[in-house]
Amino acid sequence: MKIRKLDEKTISRIAAGEVIERPLSVVKELVENSIDAGGAEIVIELQDGGLRLIRVSDNGCGMSAEEVRAAAQSHTTSKIERIEDLDGLSSLGFRGEALHSIVSVSMTTFLTRRKRDEAGTRLRVEGGAATHEEPAARNPGTTVVVENLFYNVPARQKFLKSPRAETQAAANFVSRIALAYPEIAFSLSNNGVAVYRTEPAETRAERVKAMAGKHFAGSLVEERGAVRRTRLHAVFSTPDVSFPNRRSQIFFVNGRLVRDRRLTAAVDTAYRGLIAAGRFPLCAVFLEVPADEVDVNVHPAKTEVRFSAEHEIHSLIYRTIRSRFMRPVEEEKPALRLVSREKPLLPEGRRPVRPQEELGLGPEAPPRAAGEAAPTARPVEIYDQFFDTFIFARVDGSPVIIDQHIASERILYNQLKRARAAPPLQKLLLSEPVEVPHYAFAVLSENLERVNSAGIEIEPFGERAFVIRSVVHNARGFDPASLLLSLANELSSAPFKTPENVLADRLMTITACRMAVQSGQKLTREEMKALVLNYLDEEYNRTCPHGRPILHEISREMLDSLFRR
Ligand code: ADP
Ligand code: MG
Repeated sequence: MKIRKLDEKTISRIAAGEVIERPLSVVKELVENSIDAGGAEIVIELQDGGLRLIRVSDNGCGMSAEEVRAAAQSHTTSKIERIEDLDGLSSLGFRGEALHSIVSVSMTTFLTRRKRDEAGTRLRVEGGAATHEEPAARNPGTTVVVENLFYNVPARQKFLKSPRAETQAAANFVSRIALAYPEIAFSLSNNGVAVYRTEPAETRAERVKAMAGKHFAGSLVEERGAVRRTRLHAVFSTPDVSFPNRRSQIFFVNGRLVRDRRLTAAVDTAYRGLIAAGRFPLCAVFLEVPADEVDVNVHPAKTEVRFSAEHEIHSLIYRTIRSRFMRPVEEEKPALRLVSREKPLLPEGRRPVRPQEELGLGPEAPPRAAGEAAPTARPVEIYDQFFDTFIFARVDGSPVIIDQHIASERILYNQLKRARAAPPLQKLLLSEPVEVPHYAFAVLSENLERVNSAGIEIEPFGERAFVIRSVVHNARGFDPASLLLSLANELSSAPFKTPENVLADRLMTITACRMAVQSGQKLTREEMKALVLNYLDEEYNRTCPHGRPILHEISREMLDSLFRR
């Protein structure tokens, strides 16, 4: 075995592989350089998804002949001088590796001119070696053309994706990065066909709306927040719309696109109880963190960051988004003023907390509409129940359809939330011991307090049964065994470090769902009226804790369109 030192060229090509994986990496590095150069317009042109050619042009600061020569060398950057400078960094680039990596594995041509220079420079570099340089005409700015990527790294070439996949990936990247730079016009084309172009936009929110599309734009809101020297600007969807994956969740730290599980977790927490499990909101989160409190040098492609005050940032995101949903519903969606709390039935703070009275549905409790006189203040008229599931009513003059199960679920969930650790429980008389499987018995016995706070008080009885002492709501048809099983399941499957409040919330959601009026249950007119009145009086009443809509207004427009008027 003979150990040799690799030659410079081989070393460069190996190093290039870390930064430049595929055409998308080139697009990303060149676009970031153009943003750093301060241009107002960036044009990205691909041929065959970039496999054949990538051209990125800007009207930024440009480079002198000397600068462009230097830029193509290894570890050359104009952005920092010393490691300490990283703490004051405001540019996207700083490693001084990108251009060198690109020119090592392609045939690259630079055409660039600074405003103050009379002539520009054209420089050709093949496989890392400069092959041609001449003065050339150009408007101030820079064009970089990268051809035949990986022509000298055949192993890498084999693993490239299709031109279509690369075009898609580039479009995805450009449309995201564009959100943070609304003052810059971006356009992307492939083989001469326009793929993406930004409308001139004034604000980030406008760009996010354009990205979301017309259908969802109306469901986006924005908020700002700050903690110490960190500032947050977030544009996000209201809980009545949601998406099947996280593709519409975009995070920027100091103008840099990042992926970070802790940031997405903060958003998840903000929507907990408002959106269905497995559904995701749209969000664009822009964080400005002091450069000395964030490490951007964690990953060669600079997509990962580390914060020194991680917890603080998590809570800033959570609080800023969450605070939006604490406001009255009508602020966000005038069309839904029907379910707003503009006419509270009971003054704030006098909300009854005795559950059966509140719901008016327990066997021992008289329906509220038939007892106390306050609720009749709201003009609600019940027409009928359909399919034993939907209540057809008139509320404040408009016809509406309400899902009885999820309306009731929302009431119970809110009630549990309001009471937090000590929900008002009703003694259950004559409760038979409920037998559960051994694993469930073990889990529940270890978590008696948590179960209690979720609205059901149980006491171990023998080796595998519980006596139910009291419940938050004794619904008709309530099946305690299946509730206990669901709670046990949640408790045993929750990840080890699930925060206490998150777990409590999940348990409450389960209890609310199981104790609520079920679909398929016949209700009397009085029961329906009590349910609807209580529901209308609730906060966050547009969706159930899982995010499903509860009420639909049958609007004039809807009927007109049904009958093609
Ligand atoms: P970095 O961006 O990390 O500094 P790069 O290899 O991407 O390293 O670029 C090297 C240098 O080349 C930059 O620091 C900058 O001075 C110069 N440069 C690159 N692209 C452009 C451009 N589009 N306009 C002006 N200068 C550029
Ligand atoms: Mg760069």
